[in-house]
Amino acid sequence: MSKQTPFAASGPPGRIARVVVEIALDKEFDYLIPDHLVNKVRLGSQVIVPFGPRKITGYVLSLQDRSDHAKLKPISRVVGDQPLITQTIVRLARWMADYYVCSVEQAIRTVLPSVVRQTKRAFKQVSHVELIEPALDDPAIDRLRKRAPKQALVLDVLRREPLITLPRLTAETGVTRSTVQAMAKKKLLRISQQAVNRDPFERYEVVPTTPLPLMPQQQQALDQIIQSIDTLEPLVTLLFGVTGSGKTEVYLQALAHVLEQDKGAIVLVPEISLTPQTVERFRARFGNIVAVLHSHLSSGERHDEWHRLQKGEARIAIGARSALFAPVQRLGLIVVDEEHEPSYKQEEAPRYNARDVAVVRGRMEGCAVVVGTATPALESLHNAAVGKYAMARMPSRVDHRTMPVLKIVDMRVEMEREGKLNVLSRDLMEAVQARLERREQTILFLNRRGFATSLVCPKCGYVAECRHCSVAMTYHKSSHDLRCHLCGAIEKVPARCPEESCQDPAFRYAGLGTQRVEEVVAACFKNARVKRMDADTTTRKEAYAELLGAFRAGEIDILLGTQMIAKGLDFPNVTLVGVVNADMGLHLPDFRAGERTFQLLTQVAGRAGRGDVAGEVIVQTFTPFHPAIQAARRLDYDGFFDQEIAFRKELGYPPFAHVICLTLRGTDQAAVQRVGERIMEKVRPAWGEEVVSSGPVAAPLARIKGQYRYQCVFRSRRTRTVTTPLRQVLAETKWPRDVRYALDVDALSLL
Ligand code: ADP
Ligand code: ZN
Repeated sequence: MSKQTPFAASGPPGRIARVVVEIALDKEFDYLIPDHLVNKVRLGSQVIVPFGPRKITGYVLSLQDRSDHAKLKPISRVVGDQPLITQTIVRLARWMADYYVCSVEQAIRTVLPSVVRQTKRAFKQVSHVELIEPALDDPAIDRLRKRAPKQALVLDVLRREPLITLPRLTAETGVTRSTVQAMAKKKLLRISQQAVNRDPFERYEVVPTTPLPLMPQQQQALDQIIQSIDTLEPLVTLLFGVTGSGKTEVYLQALAHVLEQDKGAIVLVPEISLTPQTVERFRARFGNIVAVLHSHLSSGERHDEWHRLQKGEARIAIGARSALFAPVQRLGLIVVDEEHEPSYKQEEAPRYNARDVAVVRGRMEGCAVVVGTATPALESLHNAAVGKYAMARMPSRVDHRTMPVLKIVDMRVEMEREGKLNVLSRDLMEAVQARLERREQTILFLNRRGFATSLVCPKCGYVAECRHCSVAMTYHKSSHDLRCHLCGAIEKVPARCPEESCQDPAFRYAGLGTQRVEEVVAACFKNARVKRMDADTTTRKEAYAELLGAFRAGEIDILLGTQMIAKGLDFPNVTLVGVVNADMGLHLPDFRAGERTFQLLTQVAGRAGRGDVAGEVIVQTFTPFHPAIQAARRLDYDGFFDQEIAFRKELGYPPFAHVICLTLRGTDQAAVQRVGERIMEKVRPAWGEEVVSSGPVAAPLARIKGQYRYQCVFRSRRTRTVTTPLRQVLAETKWPRDVRYALDVDALSLL
């Protein structure tokens, strides 16, 4: 044995554990597995290890025969009898750490919820009552019935149900705790502490449902998905079905197929759609084997639901983004509903996109993945177009109702006629008034809560765009100029509209808050009950459900809000949807602005006319001929896709390249910019023409909470061409005291 392999560090095979510890260090440490723990330490085990003078928690990420370090300390103890993380989840965490450029420890924290990591949290213990054998025979009970009728009643219940919780027993019989305790003393029954699962849905009654006979388009989609489940060929299916086409029923029957094979599944829905009604559809079909992972649950409930899955008591996990990492046994299917939703992207490190990681987990576990939506992300449809994904299309609604017609109101014409710019056009006013008279409901929708950053001519609809990038320029108030934050171009703010035929001086900054609109609407319709729903009015977690409940109950005439109300809601009495300003999203400095606007208008349109009355959608815009708005009006997804994909290809945007965004921030503006420049100088030589880069330039949100923000944006066909050298440079950079960075791989938004 050479000197490089110290004796202390080698030993019997697999006796060295490589451990990542719960403090933010991008490093793994080797520990010796002592004799008495040999059979307990496994890959994924949670362990307590000595670390300096302290004892800390860690996770075993691999088992080794040898280590490069001499003098290894032994693991102190193992927590629990089962490893908390499976081998695949460890692999997945490593993949995420690599792809999204974060530490393995950060990735582990993402895949393992904190309620499960905390060694303190345990199952809830509740007193249970059970009969002691030999139980009294019937004559003995009858004698007891005369002497102590209450005790006899307790025995009656226990003979029916031999194990029952003490609270339920007392509730059912009306006897007191002390009576039951006295019976325990007489050895008629036994009281013991037993773990119970906290059931987040015990208050909800579910009426069981059975599979519906499928429509032909659903049957075809299901057949395709079943083929994917059985053969993994192809692994991913894009279920492209219009709102109301019956996607959920297809998911349910695909899940049934997976359960028949004694496998489990994960269903991801956007946080905002994860309502009791959504969960109920799954529980109504599959009952208790559905576990819910939701940030609104108490931590005790989350702990128990996680362990129900891990023990195999629950087979289907339903939840938002992070439910992707649920410990489902023998995974057979992952469903990602509303796959186009930006909320699948986590906004803090690791900035992963659950839809994309779902495909990676599917590949690692050998399980099928279904991504479903009415408005596919361009990336997903492209994957289907080039044959990476299978596609199942469901173009018509189950109820055969036609999609509502979108009416476009040209706000330039409106302004001309009225002589001023009103929040609500005459058409929209009249339409709302008609609904009020017919006691039908209206949703008014604002594209974004929005900040006023883009320059728009209210007369001709001209929007200041970067001449190199085809994105709207951002107005910077502090410097009073226009900037493109993709390429860094700077331009002066024109004094009047540059459009030759227009030249109007009334240039303005687009931006209209929900609050302002609420004031206007309330003033226009004095007798109407108007409510606003946005991030500000729903900070309390119940507020969202309360508002929707009131709306459903008909206690609100006009509901006003942002994205929140565009999602998957189904209100039969809503016959009008008004989009107050469709342009707002279009002019954000974002190459996805057109796609987002198209998706949003299509989703919003899906909200109108789900009941017996046909729906109407009115869209107010300054740019009625914008391709995204025109395509939405015609409900023409394919036309939109063809046009948009050509634009992306020409300019080298996703899906033809990955976008990676490095944001630097700090209180000292010059220092932030200088660090950015130094980083760019170092990384640029590391790659050739494959990477298009820009920056550092001031971010569109140039200053947040007193911190200056600069961005460097990279586009490349392969992310690792950028991230590998960048990770290195970031690690080597001497960071000024208060400068921080965030790296976003496959960034969805560049604000
Ligand atoms: P999507 O998820 O595509 O918007 P849903 O799954 O919510 O559509 O279906 C819309 C409505 O149609 C639901 O009320 C659902 O119960 C009903 N539905 C779905 N499939 C069928 C079917 N095959 N027969 C009858 N009703 C169906
Ligand atoms: Zn530009």
